[in-house]
Amino acid sequence: MHYQSTRGQAPDLDFRGATLAGLATDGGLYLPAEWPRLSPQTIETLATASYAETAFTVMRPFVEGALSDAELKTLIAQAYGDFGHAAVTPLVELDHRHWLLELFHGPTLAFKDVALQLLGGLFGHFLADGERITIVGATSGDTGSAAIEAVAGRPGITIFMLHPQGRVSEVQRRQMTTVNAPNVHNIAVDGSFDDCQALVKSLFNDQPFRAEMQLSAVNSINWARLLAQIVYYVHAASRLGAPHRQVSFSVPTGNFGDVFAGYCAARMGLPIGRLLVATNVNDILARALNAGDYSVGQVAPTATPSMDIQVSSNFERLLFDLHGRDGAALAATMASFEATGRMALSEAQRAEAGKLFLAERVDETGMMQALAWANSECGQLLDPHTGVGLAAARARADELPGPIVTLATAHPAKFPEAVERATGVHPSLPRRVQHLFDREERFERLPADAEALKAHIRKHA
Ligand SMILES: *Cc1c(COP(=O)(O)O)cnc(C)c1O
Repeated sequence: MHYQSTRGQAPDLDFRGATLAGLATDGGLYLPAEWPRLSPQTIETLATASYAETAFTVMRPFVEGALSDAELKTLIAQAYGDFGHAAVTPLVELDHRHWLLELFHGPTLAFKDVALQLLGGLFGHFLADGERITIVGATSGDTGSAAIEAVAGRPGITIFMLHPQGRVSEVQRRQMTTVNAPNVHNIAVDGSFDDCQALVKSLFNDQPFRAEMQLSAVNSINWARLLAQIVYYVHAASRLGAPHRQVSFSVPTGNFGDVFAGYCAARMGLPIGRLLVATNVNDILARALNAGDYSVGQVAPTATPSMDIQVSSNFERLLFDLHGRDGAALAATMASFEATGRMALSEAQRAEAGKLFLAERVDETGMMQALAWANSECGQLLDPHTGVGLAAARARADELPGPIVTLATAHPAKFPEAVERATGVHPSLPRRVQHLFDREERFERLPADAEALKAHIRKHA
């Protein structure tokens, strides 16, 4: 399998190359050159397959030439072996239409574990003996802990994770700072999340430093992360009647990574009715899909911080298909977007996207009502991100064919204040993570200064 850049200028890579590169050298994102097909017979057999078996079937054609069957099976077993639930991503019925797909049974209680547990193993596998990489990232919460948990203790990898001092929740901070491994370095930056991101960007733009340190990224532009996420769409749909019945999904969306994995599943032949893109009030994707207006505004902080974004980096992957897979045309569109902060989708592009995607914006009241409904009518405590997804799903149920699955992207105990405000119930942490409050925290405090950060990384990498 070959991977090509959405901007058409970077060389094609195999799965190993695309995984280690993350971003393509022309600024584009990697996509497989073709979509492998899941036949109806294969989907039928997956109805009784384990999560690991489904993962193997889905991923195998994408990793061809880079991993043997035995290697892929081992990596899958290691990635999903210590999830806190035997089903890995269990389905929960809410009422006659609505289901939840719980994606938060990994080590850090958010769906990012599903992708990053596998990515950590892939990095470990692909780095030949003696080869070293330095992962540098910025986090506003869930990505940081999931990435740290995925690479802690792995030879050849050192990770530096930046978070804005005092601006992540206590649970989120402790999930990063209590990991006691010599290759993990937490940095609390005196500044905002945007400052952290700008610092990381400036390091990646410093080519000599990038080469010296072998910098690598783990954000959701990495194709391998999306690949891992295709699996749970197939797993859920095959349990709810695919290939004989369509299934729809509502996806709490920020960077468009999770919902794009659903698009990949549909391209592979999974009978997805509709994919509902659920946004909070930071609604650039809802505006783009509903009105063709992809223009950047100001980020408004909400109770769903992992969806507080303006630019959704993975949207470029859908735009590639909407531009007829013409990398040069998309590169021109993206250059104009980067210069002006706006992009208009044509009527034809919007109609094409609308065959599969719907979009709904959910405000704080809608999110709180969904949390209250799930608690009082179904006895389920949801996290606020999942609440945005469920509110959207209930608002648009008439347009969603088949059973409707809302992706439950985080455990409610990660966001206890918002959950308690909506339901009056304080969610408790699962027993397997209660150690968080007993362990010592380790982090460095640094100013928002690129030179200070580089010196720190040189000293500790
Ligand atoms: C990251 C995240 C999201 C958004 O996912 P994208 O792939 O960025 O669209 C939603 N909910 C939670 C809890 C997250 O951590």
